[in-house]
Amino acid sequence: MDGKASADPRPGAFSRLAGNGSAASGGLEGMDEAGVLDALFSTNAAPILLIDPGRDGAIVDANPRAAAFYGYSRDRLRSLHVWDINQLGRAILPAMREIASWEGGHYPQRFHHRLADGSVRDVQVYAGPIRFGGRKLLLCIIHDITAVIEAEQFNRLLLENVQVGVCGIDRSGAVTFVNPTAVCAFGFRHESELIRSHIARFLFPNSPGADGSGMPHPVFRVAETGQAARDIEATLYRGDGTAFPVRLTASPIRNNDGIVGVVVSFFDLTEEREREAQASDLANALPGAVFQAELHPGGGLRATYFSTAAASLFGVQPDADLTVPQTLAPVMTVKGWARVRRGLRQAGRAGRVWEGEMETAGGRWVLGRAQPRRRSDGAVLFNGVLLDITDRKGLEADLQQAAMHDPLTGVWNRRRFQQAVSEAAARLERYGRPYILALMDIDHFKRFNDTHGHQAGDDALRVVATTLSDRLRRSDAVARWGGEEFALLLTEADLPAALGVLDALRRRVGAQRMECGGAITISIGVGQAKAGEDIDSLLQRVDAALYKAKAAGRNRVEQA
Ligand code: GH3
Ligand code: MG
Ligand code: MG
Repeated sequence: MDGKASADPRPGAFSRLAGNGSAASGGLEGMDEAGVLDALFSTNAAPILLIDPGRDGAIVDANPRAAAFYGYSRDRLRSLHVWDINQLGRAILPAMREIASWEGGHYPQRFHHRLADGSVRDVQVYAGPIRFGGRKLLLCIIHDITAVIEAEQFNRLLLENVQVGVCGIDRSGAVTFVNPTAVCAFGFRHESELIRSHIARFLFPNSPGADGSGMPHPVFRVAETGQAARDIEATLYRGDGTAFPVRLTASPIRNNDGIVGVVVSFFDLTEEREREAQASDLANALPGAVFQAELHPGGGLRATYFSTAAASLFGVQPDADLTVPQTLAPVMTVKGWARVRRGLRQAGRAGRVWEGEMETAGGRWVLGRAQPRRRSDGAVLFNGVLLDITDRKGLEADLQQAAMHDPLTGVWNRRRFQQAVSEAAARLERYGRPYILALMDIDHFKRFNDTHGHQAGDDALRVVATTLSDRLRRSDAVARWGGEEFALLLTEADLPAALGVLDALRRRVGAQRMECGGAITISIGVGQAKAGEDIDSLLQRVDAALYKAKAAGRNRVEQA
């Protein structure tokens, strides 16, 4: 019990000084309790408070050094409670009771203590239970570490202000340090409530022990193997047993003797998960379908999210594993899926919106639109919508059909035919490929109508259209030019061959017997486009040839 030992407030200091609560033990034999305390109080260079946890944390006594430090008289100090000087106020009481229940060595605790002049000091408190006058008291040796704290302000601020919970455990799994974020995340007020707790209580529901899987928790494996476990998604449990999701990293702490513990840092994912859930609710509430996909630098595409509506659009179950690209393969053709991936890759590279139409195996059409966002790891994240455009597609197809075809006969209309002639004219100009144009007109059709009726006339027009288109090659085209006139475009044919084809057509039409019993013939004018000739002059020549055929008695082919 010398001055040096008492000035050294490390764990165990009061075990030596105060006989670990027993006045009759060790070197203190023969001294009564008051004598021990007097000796302790008068010789210790550090402020000491004697606190009664059983009486609301009342300060039972203090040494002169404490009076000097706090700026109160000893009598005044004896009238105060621990919560008068601790910045935590009454919230210190549970922590104090916890510390009072500890046996053996003591861990230093950091607090903010308020002095009589209102200033606040950072203190490290070595507190331990002591029996005095039949009561179980708490002996607290105060170490003013304000200067030290200021010196290590940066590290402290770092640990206190990071959004990451940090706690250290020794090899037995006991918590040795914990930062304020972790204290708060576990639902406590002060580190002392966690120090010396077994980490298992935060790793497993209904601790202690394991989760029942028989597998050691990754955190414990780190202590055994010395291999850090990084960024694992896990569940931690608060003091009240409620669970919260985290991303945690556990790294071994080594000294010369090997692994002495593990430092666990974790990021609370609760808010992130809530945001995700909200986004998902929102996505599912929308009339459209929402999806998210990740495109990796290597080219791999991973669907990370499909709202229920998006999944049903593609005919996959909402809980299907969409991270496997093949999941969509049965829903879309291999070519279609490859086109989507190509489109996404191009959009991702250029950083512009992707838009694409996809036909699903179920015969539905889906319009996809997604905004790419490049992530720091090089992957591109697409957030997009899918719209069922099957109805629109059907309407479009109908409109296109209507825009290009003659409603009575089903063959091309004059507008579509003129387009085809323009294309043929362009090919002639560019590649010198000639084309042949024919105009045909039903002979004495007015008379046919008059004899058999307009309805029979319509039927006859259909018969002519079918006869003409049946006999044509894919490269040829037939159209209703107007009234009872048809036009033909023959490519890849020379004039003599075309004359043969047209004459055969003329005879086939003439041979048809109509339902009404009547028959018709057609007259045809035909010409080959010349190099440099424009469409109008070719048309004029062909029309003149048709006129010639009429004038020459009808039911014949005349060359322009
Ligand atoms: P030509 O041999 O000189 O060509 O004699 P044509 O009677 O065929 O000549 P014209 O041009 O005088 O008469 C064409 C007739 O074709 C008039 C019209 O009644 C008939 N026609 C035109 N379009 C249609 C149609 O859509 N349906 C029916 N049923 N008849 C039509
Ligand atoms: Mg006519
Ligand atoms: Mg006619």
